[in-house]
Amino acid sequence: MSHRGLSLWFDQVAEDGDPLRPRRPLDGDFDADVCIVGGGLTGLWTAYYLARARPDLRIVVLEARIAGFGASGRNGGWCSALFPVTTGALVRRYGAEAALAMRAAMNDTVREVGDVAAAEEIACDYRRGGTLYLARTTVQRDRARAGVEDDEALGSPDGLTWLSATEAAEQVGVAGVLGAAYTPHCARLQPARLVRGLARVVEGRGVSLFEESPALRLEPGRAVTSTGTVHAKVVVRATEAWTARLPGSRRDVVPVYSLMVATRPLPQSFWDVAGLARGQTFTDERHLIIYGQRTADDRLAFGGRGAPYHFGSTIAPANDRSERVFAKLRLTLRELFPGLSRDDFTHAWGGPLGIPRDWHASVGLDPATGLAWAGGYVGDGLATTNLAGRTLRDLSLRQLGLGAETSLTTLPWVDHRSPQWEPEPLRWLGVNAGLLAMSTADAEERLTRHPSVTARLLAPLLGH
Ligand SMILES: Cc1cc2nc3c(=O)[nH]c(=O)nc-3n(C[C@H](O)[C@H](O)[C@H](O)COP(=O)(O)OP(=O)(O)OC[C@H]3O[C@@H](n4cnc5c(N)ncnc54)[C@H](O)[C@@H]3O)c2cc1C
Repeated sequence: MSHRGLSLWFDQVAEDGDPLRPRRPLDGDFDADVCIVGGGLTGLWTAYYLARARPDLRIVVLEARIAGFGASGRNGGWCSALFPVTTGALVRRYGAEAALAMRAAMNDTVREVGDVAAAEEIACDYRRGGTLYLARTTVQRDRARAGVEDDEALGSPDGLTWLSATEAAEQVGVAGVLGAAYTPHCARLQPARLVRGLARVVEGRGVSLFEESPALRLEPGRAVTSTGTVHAKVVVRATEAWTARLPGSRRDVVPVYSLMVATRPLPQSFWDVAGLARGQTFTDERHLIIYGQRTADDRLAFGGRGAPYHFGSTIAPANDRSERVFAKLRLTLRELFPGLSRDDFTHAWGGPLGIPRDWHASVGLDPATGLAWAGGYVGDGLATTNLAGRTLRDLSLRQLGLGAETSLTTLPWVDHRSPQWEPEPLRWLGVNAGLLAMSTADAEERLTRHPSVTARLLAPLLGH
Protein backbone atom coordinates (compact mmCIF):
# COMPACT_ATOMS: atom_id res chain seq x y z
CA MET A 1 0.00 0.00 0.00
CA SER A 2 1.29 3.51 -0.75
CA HIS A 3 1.71 5.88 2.18
CA ARG A 4 -1.24 7.83 0.82
CA GLY A 5 -3.51 4.87 1.65
CA LEU A 6 -2.51 4.84 5.33
CA SER A 7 -5.44 7.04 6.38
CA LEU A 8 -7.86 9.74 5.26
CA TRP A 9 -5.35 12.15 6.78
CA PHE A 10 -2.43 10.93 4.63
CA ASP A 11 -4.69 11.05 1.58
CA GLN A 12 -5.37 14.70 2.38
CA VAL A 13 -1.71 15.65 2.92
CA ALA A 14 -0.91 14.07 -0.45
CA GLU A 15 -3.70 16.21 -1.89
CA ASP A 16 -2.07 19.23 -0.15
CA GLY A 17 1.07 18.55 -2.21
CA ASP A 18 3.20 16.50 0.24
CA PRO A 19 4.94 13.92 -2.03
CA LEU A 20 5.33 11.53 0.96
CA ARG A 21 8.75 10.66 -0.44
CA PRO A 22 11.12 9.24 2.17
CA ARG A 23 13.99 11.48 3.23
CA ARG A 24 17.55 10.11 2.94
CA PRO A 25 18.37 7.09 5.09
CA LEU A 26 21.25 6.95 7.56
CA ASP A 27 24.39 6.19 5.56
CA GLY A 28 27.36 5.44 7.81
CA ASP A 29 28.11 6.35 11.42
CA PHE A 30 27.02 9.62 12.98
CA ASP A 31 27.88 11.46 16.19
CA ALA A 32 25.10 13.30 17.99
CA ASP A 33 24.15 14.60 21.42
CA VAL A 34 20.68 13.08 21.34
CA CYS A 35 19.45 10.27 19.09
CA ILE A 36 15.69 9.79 18.92
CA VAL A 37 14.35 6.52 17.52
CA GLY A 38 10.87 6.89 16.02
CA GLY A 39 9.59 9.76 13.87
CA GLY A 40 6.07 10.02 15.26
CA LEU A 41 4.83 12.82 17.47
CA THR A 42 6.81 11.65 20.53
CA GLY A 43 10.07 11.70 18.60
CA LEU A 44 9.38 14.89 16.69
CA TRP A 45 8.09 16.89 19.67
CA THR A 46 11.24 15.85 21.58
CA ALA A 47 13.42 16.97 18.69
CA TYR A 48 11.44 20.19 18.33
CA TYR A 49 11.71 21.29 21.96
CA LEU A 50 15.39 20.29 22.22
CA ALA A 51 16.28 22.18 19.04
CA ARG A 52 14.31 25.20 20.22
CA ALA A 53 15.97 25.20 23.66
CA ARG A 54 19.51 24.53 22.39
CA PRO A 55 20.02 25.20 18.67
CA ASP A 56 23.66 24.13 19.11
CA LEU A 57 22.75 20.51 19.97
CA ARG A 58 23.29 17.76 17.39
CA ILE A 59 19.96 15.94 17.24
CA VAL A 60 19.18 12.90 15.10
CA VAL A 61 15.81 11.25 14.47
CA LEU A 62 15.79 7.72 13.03
CA GLU A 63 12.48 6.69 11.48
CA ALA A 64 11.82 3.19 10.11
CA ARG A 65 9.47 4.37 7.35
CA ILE A 66 8.45 8.03 6.96
CA ALA A 67 7.57 10.66 9.57
CA GLY A 68 4.04 10.07 10.85
CA PHE A 69 3.84 6.51 9.52
CA GLY A 70 2.73 5.15 12.91
CA ALA A 71 -0.33 6.02 14.97
CA SER A 72 0.58 9.73 14.79
CA GLY A 73 -0.56 9.98 11.16
CA ARG A 74 -3.60 7.74 11.47
CA ASN A 75 -5.40 8.61 14.71
CA GLY A 76 -8.79 10.08 15.51
CA GLY A 77 -7.49 13.63 15.81
CA TRP A 78 -8.64 14.12 19.39
CA CYS A 79 -5.97 16.37 20.88
CA SER A 80 -7.35 15.76 24.34
CA ALA A 81 -6.28 16.08 27.96
CA LEU A 82 -7.19 12.42 28.53
CA PHE A 83 -4.60 10.34 30.35
CA PRO A 84 -5.07 6.57 30.43
CA VAL A 85 -5.05 6.58 34.24
CA THR A 86 -8.10 8.45 35.56
CA THR A 87 -7.65 11.46 37.84
CA GLY A 88 -9.26 9.52 40.71
CA ALA A 89 -6.77 6.66 40.29
CA LEU A 90 -3.87 9.15 40.09
CA VAL A 91 -5.03 10.72 43.38
CA ARG A 92 -5.19 7.32 45.07
CA ARG A 93 -1.75 6.39 43.78
CA TYR A 94 0.24 9.63 44.07
CA GLY A 95 -1.81 11.92 46.32
CA ALA A 96 -3.93 14.91 45.37
CA GLU A 97 -1.14 17.43 44.76
CA ALA A 98 0.82 15.29 42.28
CA ALA A 99 -2.35 14.05 40.57
CA LEU A 100 -3.70 17.57 40.09
CA ALA A 101 -0.33 18.76 38.77
CA MET A 102 -0.48 15.96 36.18
CA ARG A 103 -4.03 16.87 35.22
CA ALA A 104 -3.17 20.58 34.92
CA ALA A 105 -0.16 19.70 32.74
CA MET A 106 -2.41 17.67 30.43
CA ASN A 107 -4.99 20.47 30.20
CA ASP A 108 -2.23 22.98 29.36
CA THR A 109 -0.86 20.60 26.73
CA VAL A 110 -4.03 20.81 24.65
CA ARG A 111 -3.47 24.58 24.33
CA GLU A 112 0.28 24.19 23.84
CA VAL A 113 -0.22 22.04 20.74
CA GLY A 114 -2.49 24.69 19.22
CA ASP A 115 -0.10 27.51 20.16
CA VAL A 116 2.94 25.81 18.60
CA ALA A 117 1.00 24.85 15.48
CA ALA A 118 -0.03 28.51 15.08
CA ALA A 119 3.45 29.88 15.84
CA GLU A 120 5.15 27.46 13.43
CA GLU A 121 2.46 27.87 10.77
CA ILE A 122 1.48 24.20 10.79
CA ALA A 123 -2.03 24.30 9.31
CA CYS A 124 -3.55 21.26 11.02
CA ASP A 125 -7.19 22.32 11.42
CA TYR A 126 -6.80 22.69 15.21
CA ARG A 127 -10.08 23.72 16.81
CA ARG A 128 -10.63 23.56 20.57
CA GLY A 129 -14.30 22.61 20.85
CA GLY A 130 -14.13 20.17 23.77
CA THR A 131 -15.55 16.65 24.02
CA LEU A 132 -19.10 15.39 24.48
CA TYR A 133 -19.50 12.10 26.36
CA LEU A 134 -23.00 11.15 25.25
CA ALA A 135 -25.34 9.04 27.37
CA ARG A 136 -27.86 7.03 25.37
CA THR A 137 -29.14 4.61 28.02
CA THR A 138 -30.07 5.19 31.64
CA VAL A 139 -27.03 3.17 32.76
CA GLN A 140 -24.79 5.36 30.61
CA ARG A 141 -26.50 8.48 31.95
CA ASP A 142 -25.90 7.43 35.56
CA ARG A 143 -22.26 6.65 34.78
CA ALA A 144 -21.70 9.99 33.04
CA ARG A 145 -23.36 11.94 35.86
CA ALA A 146 -21.32 10.08 38.46
CA GLY A 147 -18.19 11.00 36.50
CA VAL A 148 -19.13 14.69 36.61
CA GLU A 149 -19.88 14.50 40.34
CA ASP A 150 -16.56 12.75 41.08
CA ASP A 151 -14.75 15.44 39.10
CA GLU A 152 -16.58 18.22 40.97
CA ALA A 153 -15.63 16.61 44.29
CA LEU A 154 -11.95 16.91 43.25
CA GLY A 155 -12.39 20.59 42.27
CA SER A 156 -13.19 19.88 38.57
CA PRO A 157 -9.67 19.09 37.32
CA ASP A 158 -11.17 17.35 34.27
CA GLY A 159 -13.44 20.35 33.63
CA LEU A 160 -16.55 18.17 33.32
CA THR A 161 -20.03 19.65 33.35
CA TRP A 162 -23.37 17.91 32.91
CA LEU A 163 -25.60 18.79 29.94
CA SER A 164 -29.28 17.90 29.99
CA ALA A 165 -30.80 16.07 27.03
CA THR A 166 -31.93 19.42 25.59
CA GLU A 167 -28.54 21.07 26.12
CA ALA A 168 -26.73 18.10 24.58
CA ALA A 169 -29.09 18.10 21.60
CA GLU A 170 -28.21 21.76 20.97
CA GLN A 171 -24.61 20.64 20.39
CA VAL A 172 -25.03 17.38 18.53
CA GLY A 173 -27.93 15.74 16.73
CA VAL A 174 -27.34 12.15 17.83
CA ALA A 175 -30.29 9.78 18.11
CA GLY A 176 -31.60 8.96 21.59
CA VAL A 177 -29.36 11.19 23.72
CA LEU A 178 -30.42 11.41 27.39
CA GLY A 179 -27.70 13.88 28.36
CA ALA A 180 -23.94 14.31 28.14
CA ALA A 181 -20.86 15.10 30.13
CA TYR A 182 -18.81 17.86 28.50
CA THR A 183 -15.21 18.97 28.94
CA PRO A 184 -13.58 21.89 27.12
CA HIS A 185 -10.13 20.20 27.26
CA CYS A 186 -9.97 18.78 23.75
CA ALA A 187 -9.28 20.07 20.25
CA ARG A 188 -10.00 18.28 17.02
CA LEU A 189 -7.23 18.38 14.47
CA GLN A 190 -5.93 16.72 11.31
CA PRO A 191 -3.12 14.54 12.68
CA ALA A 192 -1.10 13.91 9.51
CA ARG A 193 -0.97 17.65 8.79
CA LEU A 194 0.38 18.12 12.33
CA VAL A 195 3.03 15.39 12.25
CA ARG A 196 4.18 16.01 8.67
CA GLY A 197 4.32 19.76 9.36
CA LEU A 198 6.29 19.19 12.54
CA ALA A 199 8.82 17.05 10.63
CA ARG A 200 9.41 19.96 8.24
CA VAL A 201 9.77 22.39 11.16
CA VAL A 202 12.35 20.28 13.03
CA GLU A 203 14.39 19.84 9.85
CA GLY A 204 14.27 23.61 9.39
CA ARG A 205 15.69 23.92 12.90
CA GLY A 206 18.69 21.76 11.99
CA VAL A 207 17.60 18.32 13.21
CA SER A 208 18.91 15.41 11.09
CA LEU A 209 15.89 13.29 10.19
CA PHE A 210 16.76 9.96 8.55
CA GLU A 211 13.86 7.96 7.12
CA GLU A 212 13.70 4.32 6.05
CA SER A 213 16.28 3.79 8.81
CA PRO A 214 14.95 1.26 11.31
CA ALA A 215 17.06 0.89 14.45
CA LEU A 216 17.88 -2.75 15.05
CA ARG A 217 18.80 -2.21 18.69
CA LEU A 218 19.20 0.55 21.23
CA GLU A 219 22.16 0.43 23.60
CA PRO A 220 23.70 2.87 26.05
CA GLY A 221 25.42 5.49 23.91
CA ARG A 222 24.19 4.23 20.52
CA ALA A 223 21.40 3.23 18.19
CA VAL A 224 22.38 0.63 15.63
CA THR A 225 20.86 0.35 12.12
CA SER A 226 21.88 -1.92 9.24
CA THR A 227 23.46 1.06 7.45
CA GLY A 228 25.23 2.79 10.31
CA THR A 229 25.32 3.58 14.00
CA VAL A 230 24.38 6.83 15.70
CA HIS A 231 26.53 7.52 18.76
CA ALA A 232 24.86 9.79 21.32
CA LYS A 233 24.93 10.39 25.07
CA VAL A 234 21.14 10.22 25.14
CA VAL A 235 19.16 7.66 23.13
CA VAL A 236 15.38 8.10 23.19
CA ARG A 237 12.99 5.24 22.39
CA ALA A 238 9.88 6.73 20.79
CA THR A 239 8.51 3.68 18.99
CA GLU A 240 5.17 3.15 20.84
CA ALA A 241 3.47 -0.03 19.49
CA TRP A 242 6.69 -1.06 17.68
CA THR A 243 8.51 -1.15 21.02
CA ALA A 244 7.22 -4.72 21.16
CA ARG A 245 9.53 -5.52 18.20
CA LEU A 246 12.74 -4.20 19.79
CA PRO A 247 15.20 -6.54 21.52
CA GLY A 248 14.96 -6.12 25.29
CA SER A 249 11.55 -4.42 25.16
CA ARG A 250 9.29 -7.07 23.66
CA ARG A 251 6.99 -7.34 26.65
CA ASP A 252 6.91 -3.61 27.55
CA VAL A 253 3.70 -2.90 25.57
CA VAL A 254 1.18 -4.86 23.53
CA PRO A 255 0.26 -3.49 20.11
CA VAL A 256 -3.54 -3.25 20.01
CA TYR A 257 -5.31 -2.01 16.90
CA SER A 258 -7.77 0.82 16.65
CA LEU A 259 -9.66 1.17 13.36
CA MET A 260 -11.41 4.09 11.71
CA VAL A 261 -13.85 4.96 8.95
CA ALA A 262 -14.67 8.34 7.39
CA THR A 263 -17.36 9.79 5.19
CA ARG A 264 -17.26 12.14 2.24
CA PRO A 265 -17.75 15.86 3.04
CA LEU A 266 -21.40 15.97 4.14
CA PRO A 267 -23.83 18.68 2.98
CA GLN A 268 -25.02 21.59 5.11
CA SER A 269 -28.47 19.94 5.36
CA PHE A 270 -26.83 17.04 7.26
CA TRP A 271 -24.96 19.38 9.59
CA ASP A 272 -28.08 21.47 10.26
CA VAL A 273 -29.27 18.39 12.17
CA ALA A 274 -25.95 16.86 13.30
CA GLY A 275 -24.44 20.05 14.74
CA LEU A 276 -20.88 19.80 16.14
CA ALA A 277 -20.49 23.34 14.84
CA ARG A 278 -17.57 24.27 17.16
CA GLY A 279 -15.33 21.30 16.42
CA GLN A 280 -16.54 19.26 19.40
CA THR A 281 -15.30 15.68 19.44
CA PHE A 282 -17.75 13.02 20.59
CA THR A 283 -18.01 9.59 22.13
CA ASP A 284 -20.57 7.80 24.23
CA GLU A 285 -20.42 6.01 27.53
CA ARG A 286 -20.19 2.46 26.16
CA HIS A 287 -17.28 0.30 27.36
CA LEU A 288 -15.80 -0.63 23.99
CA ILE A 289 -14.30 2.73 23.09
CA ILE A 290 -15.60 4.78 20.14
CA TYR A 291 -14.50 8.29 19.12
CA GLY A 292 -15.50 10.77 16.43
CA GLN A 293 -14.92 14.22 15.04
CA ARG A 294 -16.40 16.54 12.41
CA THR A 295 -13.43 17.32 10.19
CA ALA A 296 -12.54 20.76 8.86
CA ASP A 297 -13.95 19.74 5.47
CA ASP A 298 -17.24 18.54 7.03
CA ARG A 299 -16.71 14.80 7.05
CA LEU A 300 -17.32 12.50 9.96
CA ALA A 301 -14.19 10.59 11.01
CA PHE A 302 -15.03 7.84 13.45
CA GLY A 303 -13.13 5.02 15.11
CA GLY A 304 -13.20 2.37 17.75
CA ARG A 305 -11.56 -0.68 19.24
CA GLY A 306 -12.73 -4.22 18.64
CA ALA A 307 -9.97 -5.54 16.38
CA PRO A 308 -8.18 -8.52 17.93
CA TYR A 309 -4.70 -8.57 19.44
CA HIS A 310 -2.41 -10.68 17.22
CA PHE A 311 -0.37 -13.53 18.68
CA GLY A 312 3.27 -12.69 19.44
CA SER A 313 2.58 -8.91 19.31
CA THR A 314 2.63 -9.08 15.52
CA ILE A 315 2.46 -5.78 13.65
CA ALA A 316 1.65 -6.17 9.95
CA PRO A 317 -0.13 -4.05 7.31
CA ALA A 318 -2.91 -6.68 7.09
CA ASN A 319 -3.78 -5.98 10.73
CA ASP A 320 -4.66 -2.36 9.88
CA ARG A 321 -7.80 -3.59 8.15
CA SER A 322 -10.69 -5.73 9.32
CA GLU A 323 -13.85 -5.71 7.22
CA ARG A 324 -15.80 -6.98 10.24
CA VAL A 325 -14.71 -4.04 12.40
CA PHE A 326 -15.15 -1.50 9.58
CA ALA A 327 -18.71 -2.75 9.02
CA LYS A 328 -19.44 -2.50 12.75
CA LEU A 329 -18.06 1.06 12.85
CA ARG A 330 -20.18 2.15 9.88
CA LEU A 331 -23.26 0.62 11.47
CA THR A 332 -22.58 2.29 14.83
CA LEU A 333 -22.07 5.68 13.19
CA ARG A 334 -25.30 5.30 11.23
CA GLU A 335 -27.12 4.42 14.45
CA LEU A 336 -25.79 7.63 15.99
CA PHE A 337 -26.53 9.73 12.89
CA PRO A 338 -29.49 8.16 11.05
CA GLY A 339 -29.17 10.79 8.30
CA LEU A 340 -26.05 8.99 7.00
CA SER A 341 -26.31 6.53 4.17
CA ARG A 342 -24.18 3.49 3.37
CA ASP A 343 -22.78 5.32 0.33
CA ASP A 344 -21.44 8.22 2.36
CA PHE A 345 -18.36 6.25 3.51
CA THR A 346 -15.13 6.85 1.59
CA HIS A 347 -12.17 5.79 3.79
CA ALA A 348 -11.29 2.99 6.21
CA TRP A 349 -7.94 2.38 7.92
CA GLY A 350 -6.31 1.47 11.21
CA GLY A 351 -3.12 1.33 13.19
CA PRO A 352 -1.47 -0.03 16.29
CA LEU A 353 -1.28 1.72 19.64
CA GLY A 354 0.81 0.67 22.63
CA ILE A 355 -0.69 -0.61 25.87
CA PRO A 356 1.52 -1.19 28.92
CA ARG A 357 0.58 -3.94 31.40
CA ASP A 358 -0.84 -1.45 33.96
CA TRP A 359 -2.28 0.97 31.32
CA HIS A 360 -0.02 3.70 32.76
CA ALA A 361 1.75 5.92 30.20
CA SER A 362 5.25 6.97 31.20
CA VAL A 363 8.29 9.00 30.24
CA GLY A 364 11.77 8.73 31.71
CA LEU A 365 15.52 8.67 31.36
CA ASP A 366 17.89 6.30 33.12
CA PRO A 367 20.84 8.47 34.22
CA ALA A 368 23.14 5.43 34.42
CA THR A 369 22.73 4.52 30.73
CA GLY A 370 21.35 7.64 29.03
CA LEU A 371 18.50 5.53 27.63
CA ALA A 372 15.21 7.43 27.62
CA TRP A 373 11.70 6.53 26.58
CA ALA A 374 8.13 7.76 26.37
CA GLY A 375 4.93 5.97 25.49
CA GLY A 376 2.34 3.46 26.56
CA TYR A 377 -0.29 6.10 25.90
CA VAL A 378 -3.01 3.51 25.14
CA GLY A 379 -5.36 5.54 22.88
CA ASP A 380 -4.62 8.93 24.44
CA GLY A 381 -1.30 9.88 22.93
CA LEU A 382 -1.98 12.71 20.52
CA ALA A 383 -1.61 15.51 23.08
CA THR A 384 0.39 13.46 25.61
CA THR A 385 3.27 13.11 23.11
CA ASN A 386 3.72 16.87 23.39
CA LEU A 387 4.03 16.73 27.18
CA ALA A 388 6.42 13.80 26.71
CA GLY A 389 8.50 15.84 24.25
CA ARG A 390 8.88 18.76 26.64
CA THR A 391 9.68 16.40 29.51
CA LEU A 392 12.29 14.51 27.44
CA ARG A 393 13.85 17.88 26.57
CA ASP A 394 14.28 18.66 30.26
CA LEU A 395 15.50 15.16 31.15
CA SER A 396 17.97 15.13 28.24
CA LEU A 397 19.36 18.58 29.04
CA ARG A 398 19.88 17.49 32.65
CA GLN A 399 21.66 14.34 31.45
CA LEU A 400 23.91 16.45 29.20
CA GLY A 401 24.74 18.76 32.11
CA LEU A 402 22.82 21.62 30.50
CA GLY A 403 19.76 21.77 32.75
CA ALA A 404 18.24 20.93 36.10
CA GLU A 405 15.03 19.50 37.50
CA THR A 406 11.90 21.32 36.26
CA SER A 407 8.19 21.30 37.06
CA LEU A 408 7.80 18.74 34.25
CA THR A 409 10.45 16.29 35.43
CA THR A 410 8.71 15.92 38.79
CA LEU A 411 5.28 14.97 37.40
CA PRO A 412 4.13 11.58 38.65
CA TRP A 413 4.32 9.77 35.30
CA VAL A 414 8.07 10.49 35.05
CA ASP A 415 10.18 7.35 35.57
CA HIS A 416 7.11 5.21 36.19
CA ARG A 417 7.96 1.59 35.32
CA SER A 418 5.12 -0.60 34.12
CA PRO A 419 5.35 -4.33 34.73
CA GLN A 420 6.06 -6.60 31.77
CA TRP A 421 3.30 -8.39 29.89
CA GLU A 422 3.05 -12.15 30.28
CA PRO A 423 4.77 -14.43 27.77
CA GLU A 424 2.64 -16.05 25.07
CA PRO A 425 0.17 -17.72 24.95
CA LEU A 426 -1.02 -16.09 28.19
CA ARG A 427 -0.69 -12.63 26.67
CA TRP A 428 -2.84 -13.51 23.66
CA LEU A 429 -5.48 -15.13 25.85
CA GLY A 430 -5.55 -12.29 28.39
CA VAL A 431 -5.63 -9.35 25.97
CA ASN A 432 -8.27 -10.86 23.70
CA ALA A 433 -10.38 -11.92 26.70
CA GLY A 434 -10.22 -8.30 27.92
CA LEU A 435 -11.29 -6.95 24.50
CA LEU A 436 -14.14 -9.46 24.34
CA ALA A 437 -15.21 -8.59 27.87
CA MET A 438 -15.65 -4.93 26.91
CA SER A 439 -18.09 -5.81 24.09
CA THR A 440 -19.82 -8.26 26.40
CA ALA A 441 -20.15 -5.54 29.05
CA ASP A 442 -22.07 -3.32 26.60
CA ALA A 443 -24.39 -6.18 25.62
CA GLU A 444 -24.88 -7.02 29.31
CA GLU A 445 -25.94 -3.43 30.05
CA ARG A 446 -28.35 -3.37 27.12
CA LEU A 447 -29.99 -6.56 28.39
CA THR A 448 -29.98 -6.01 32.15
CA ARG A 449 -30.27 -2.19 32.19
CA HIS A 450 -27.80 -2.28 35.09
CA PRO A 451 -24.11 -1.35 35.22
CA SER A 452 -22.04 -4.23 33.87
CA VAL A 453 -20.53 -6.53 36.47
CA THR A 454 -17.90 -7.63 33.92
CA ALA A 455 -16.75 -4.04 33.44
CA ARG A 456 -16.59 -3.43 37.21
CA LEU A 457 -14.43 -6.51 37.70
CA LEU A 458 -12.08 -5.44 34.89
CA ALA A 459 -11.85 -1.78 35.93
CA PRO A 460 -8.72 -2.18 38.09
CA LEU A 461 -6.95 -3.76 35.11
CA LEU A 462 -7.78 -0.77 32.93
CA GLY A 463 -6.35 1.94 35.16
CA HIS A 464 -9.73 3.08 36.51
C1 LIG B 1 -6.57 4.46 14.76
C2 LIG B 1 -6.01 5.21 15.95
C3 LIG B 1 -6.76 6.24 16.52
C4 LIG B 1 -6.27 6.96 17.60
N1 LIG B 1 -6.95 8.05 18.03
C5 LIG B 1 -6.40 8.86 18.98
C6 LIG B 1 -7.02 10.08 19.32
O1 LIG B 1 -8.02 10.49 18.71
N2 LIG B 1 -6.47 10.82 20.32
C7 LIG B 1 -5.35 10.41 20.97
O2 LIG B 1 -4.92 11.09 21.90
N3 LIG B 1 -4.68 9.30 20.60
C8 LIG B 1 -5.17 8.52 19.61
N4 LIG B 1 -4.50 7.41 19.21
C9 LIG B 1 -3.18 7.13 19.81
C10 LIG B 1 -2.10 8.10 19.29
O3 LIG B 1 -2.19 8.20 17.89
C11 LIG B 1 -0.73 7.59 19.70
O4 LIG B 1 -0.71 7.42 21.11
C12 LIG B 1 0.39 8.55 19.32
O5 LIG B 1 0.31 8.94 17.98
C13 LIG B 1 1.73 7.91 19.62
O6 LIG B 1 2.76 8.67 19.01
P1 LIG B 1 4.23 8.08 18.99
O7 LIG B 1 5.07 9.04 18.28
O8 LIG B 1 4.63 7.71 20.38
O9 LIG B 1 4.10 6.70 18.21
P2 LIG B 1 3.84 6.46 16.65
O10 LIG B 1 3.13 7.57 16.01
O11 LIG B 1 3.25 5.10 16.51
O12 LIG B 1 5.31 6.49 16.05
C14 LIG B 1 6.25 5.50 16.24
C15 LIG B 1 7.21 5.60 15.05
O13 LIG B 1 8.35 4.79 15.28
C16 LIG B 1 8.72 4.21 14.05
N5 LIG B 1 9.52 3.03 14.38
C17 LIG B 1 9.10 1.85 14.86
N6 LIG B 1 10.13 1.02 15.07
C18 LIG B 1 11.24 1.71 14.72
C19 LIG B 1 12.63 1.39 14.72
N7 LIG B 1 13.07 0.20 15.11
N8 LIG B 1 13.50 2.33 14.29
C20 LIG B 1 13.07 3.55 13.89
N9 LIG B 1 11.77 3.89 13.87
C21 LIG B 1 10.86 2.99 14.29
C22 LIG B 1 7.40 3.89 13.38
O14 LIG B 1 7.55 3.73 11.98
C23 LIG B 1 6.57 5.10 13.76
O15 LIG B 1 6.64 6.13 12.79
C24 LIG B 1 -4.98 6.62 18.15
C25 LIG B 1 -4.24 5.58 17.60
C26 LIG B 1 -4.74 4.87 16.51
C27 LIG B 1 -3.92 3.76 15.92
